[in-house]
This record gives sequence, C-alpha cells and structure tokens, in this order.
Amino acid sequence: MNNIPKFVLLYCLIHFSYFAFSQNKQDKIRISDELQLIKISDHAFIHISYIPGENNNKIPCNGLLLYDQERAFLFDTPINDSLTRILLSYIKDSLKLKVTGFISNDWHWDSMGGLAAIHESGIPSYAHEMTREIAKSKNLPVHRIGFKDSMQLKLGNLEILCLYLGPAHTMDNIVVWIPSENILFADCMIKELKSPDLGFTGDGDILAYPTTLQKLKNRFPHAKVVIPGHGEFGGTELIDHCIELANRK
Ligand SMILES: [Zn+2]
Repeated sequence: MNNIPKFVLLYCLIHFSYFAFSQNKQDKIRISDELQLIKISDHAFIHISYIPGENNNKIPCNGLLLYDQERAFLFDTPINDSLTRILLSYIKDSLKLKVTGFISNDWHWDSMGGLAAIHESGIPSYAHEMTREIAKSKNLPVHRIGFKDSMQLKLGNLEILCLYLGPAHTMDNIVVWIPSENILFADCMIKELKSPDLGFTGDGDILAYPTTLQKLKNRFPHAKVVIPGHGEFGGTELIDHCIELANRK
C-alpha cells in the first residue's frame, strides 16, 4: 500500500515534466533559421532575428510584438526588409493579427532595418523627432509620424507609453513601457546580464549614460520584464547591471 503514493507521485512527476517541456517548446516559435518568437505574456512576444557574428556565433536582436483584439503593434523591425516581410506575413497568416502600428527605439539598423517593408505594407510608423531627423540625414527611410518627449497610444485595451529619457546608447534612444504587462522594452540602452560592457557607444553619450539609466530605474522600479536590445531578457537587475557598467571608469 505504501508504494502506491510513490508510484502516483512518480507518474505525476513524469507527466508534469512532459507538460512543462511541451509548454516550454510551445512558447518558442521558430519561423525560420533567422527568425523566432518567444511568448512572454498573454499579449506579447519578443521577436528575435539573428546576425552572423565571429566564430559562427549568431547575434540575436530583440524586438517586441504586442497584441490585443486581433490587432498588433510592432516595436523594432527584424534586422532587414526580407526578414521583416517574413515576420509580417507570419503575423497576418498564422497569428491572424493586423499590424496597426510600428515604432523603433532608435535609428540603428537593428531597430529600423526593415522600415521600408513596414511602409510597403501601409503600416503607420512612429519615431522620436530626433530619430526621424537622423534617418533623413543618413538617407534612410523616415518614419511618418514624429513625437517629442513622450507619446501614449492605445492598442485594444492595452496602453503603450513611448518615452525619451535622454541620450545613452544613441542620442535619440527611447524606451517603451506596457503598463498592463509590466514590460519595459528598453532596447540597446540595456545590455543583457552576461554583457561585460556597454558595447558600441560611438553614436551615443557615455557621460550622460548613467544619468539616463538612473532616470529609467526611478521611473520603472517595478518592471517585471526588462528587454535588452540583444540577448536574454530579465527583470530590473538588468538596469542595475548597466548602471554598474556605465559608472565604470
Ligand atoms: Zn542594437
């Protein structure tokens, strides 16, 4: 008789592991070798596109896809137009969502490398005025709608807040806050935990960087999900890690 509960426990454990494993598998959608989606909340995916790096390593680039009531909003494109077209088709045909807006966090190609494909699809595009000016001066596609300081948008029942807090990784970098999901899409201003340094800062402001990060931390102390430009997402410990990196002399 004593063996029965053990057997039941083992049975449950095996099934639980299987369930957990298949859940985990379900949360990752592989669209192609260069494009993946990871579900992070009831209303959000991270989209990841890959660029070839040194020693056959692929560098992952993060963006965000938010959705509600059959509508979606895209934050940052995959790294180029062709991957952006593939992502837009997948969103339309497989997820059955209509993309009603796009915004990029800065002017770098890993944020807006697919902007021409966004415009091809007739999707309204938004960016900070500074991003539009830099894009214009570099002969890149230019977002149709600009904002200064901050912009609030609605997607179904969800709120979207785009906020400029000052220069850091680039002069024009903004962050995106989704209050209902407690998601902070900080993009390249924030590095993943295993990053040993702030990476490329040649287009940014290394002196202002710590102040901008402190403003970010003060503004969103309860963020549950903090998404960096590259690599693994986490919580506010990613902001602390970057403050430490930015203060290093
Ligand atoms: Zn980047």
